[in-house]
Amino acid sequence: MSQPSAKLNAFPVFMRVEGEAVVIVGGGDEALAKARLLGQSSARLVIVSDHVEPELADWMVANNAEHINALYDPAYLDGAVLVFAATGDAGQDRLISDDARRLGIPVNAVDRPELCDFFTPALVNRAPLAVAIGTEGAGPVLAQMVRSKIDRMLSPSLGSLAVLAASFREGAEKLLPKGSPRRRFWNEFFSGAPARALENGQPEEAREVASALLRRQEPTEGHIALVGAGPGAEDLLTLRAHRHLMEADVIVYDALVPEAVIAMGRRDAERLPVGKRKGCHSKSQAEINDLLVSLGREGKRVVRLKSGDPLVFGRAGEEMQALRDAGISYEVVPGVTAAFAAAADFELPLTLRGVTSSMVFTTGHDLKGKSLPDWAKLAISGATVAVYMGRSVAADVASRLIAAGLSPDTAVAVVENASLTSRRKFHGTLADLPSLEDRTDLTGPVMTIIGDAVAGANFDKSEPLAAQRHIGAAARTGETVA
Ligand code: SAH
Repeated sequence: MSQPSAKLNAFPVFMRVEGEAVVIVGGGDEALAKARLLGQSSARLVIVSDHVEPELADWMVANNAEHINALYDPAYLDGAVLVFAATGDAGQDRLISDDARRLGIPVNAVDRPELCDFFTPALVNRAPLAVAIGTEGAGPVLAQMVRSKIDRMLSPSLGSLAVLAASFREGAEKLLPKGSPRRRFWNEFFSGAPARALENGQPEEAREVASALLRRQEPTEGHIALVGAGPGAEDLLTLRAHRHLMEADVIVYDALVPEAVIAMGRRDAERLPVGKRKGCHSKSQAEINDLLVSLGREGKRVVRLKSGDPLVFGRAGEEMQALRDAGISYEVVPGVTAAFAAAADFELPLTLRGVTSSMVFTTGHDLKGKSLPDWAKLAISGATVAVYMGRSVAADVASRLIAAGLSPDTAVAVVENASLTSRRKFHGTLADLPSLEDRTDLTGPVMTIIGDAVAGANFDKSEPLAAQRHIGAAARTGETVA
């Protein structure tokens, strides 16, 4: 619940500064910080100081600021719309502040609130759109924290979108009746196809789809984003994935996607689990495809959230085919795949100079047939192998690779719940790998990495697989380990 709001002692306004003089008095760090802030505007910057530090001097040259190389004199404030006292000297700043006030020019003195007529905000700049954050001096650190949160939420292309919007304003007012049709247009303009085209760096396309939108009578078109949720830790989500989640009408997610990531979506978004966890009710792939197509036809913005990367063992191929066949627009947002998270947990170089320069993403499930799949040959020639969904076929993977000629001593690293605080790490050799199948203590997803590069990992806090080896071997019937 929001609290009853207190009154602001400093009221935020946006001031016109284009082409106007803004004077900064000072030549050190304080002046540089203000110059950088004001340099984000089209004001004419004038720096008054007879001693300018090199960094500020370079900045002035690079940013076309005017330099008055002289001792401070109130005459230099004449005609300015804003003045900054940034000399670092209390007496001097007071003098400048007094002069500015006498001339009727609003003044800000760095770190001296009592001398300030206004405060400068922490700024999120998507010109012409700006978000200014102020705390009335209560905490610059707090302001920066809020700033970086907002910065992450807003697409870098939002500024271009705002410029494009301005050029459509007149047309929208002419062609669309006030109220809901106009609101719908702008909603889709800012979150639909025009916004997406600009995000993809296609300004021409953005203008075209916006024009089409303006002339269109039918209801809005849907869009499906196939989004990688990463391996589990919510802060391994990409900024783009986060943005899509914030805009989605519907979130369709798999069982492996963590609750915390799903919770990041818009509060009123519909959330649809589609399962894929053993023993739970889950939809078939065909049902999921149909669901996505029908949501798209209803005009919904859908996030199809998959664990890791959507294009790695995510059956995204089938979903994209169904969407293409139905003519529904979609895009793919990559995510951190489990192999990368497991490698990071183990500090394991997946490529290692002089040892291995290729890597294989595989699942052990194609090892049942008589012939050896291609990836096994790559493993033998030295590639690092990441095995997805490999727990229940660990013995097959090990025995087939060994039979094909890979040394039983080849290093193996296993991570359960990679990237999460609940992760567990195990290490050993290919000969130890079969023990994985019989471990009932592993209930989370498991990633296995095989290859000589594994020897370069950090085995701190990792348990040996071999401790379980004989138990595993005894529990199985008739299977050779090595
Ligand atoms: N698209 C996903 C993979 C889905 S297949 C990705 O790119 O990561 C599911 C398999 O991924 C699991 O059986 C397991 O092998 C692996 N996996 C997913 N998340 C994992 C995690 N946090 N730790 C270890 N393995 C994981």
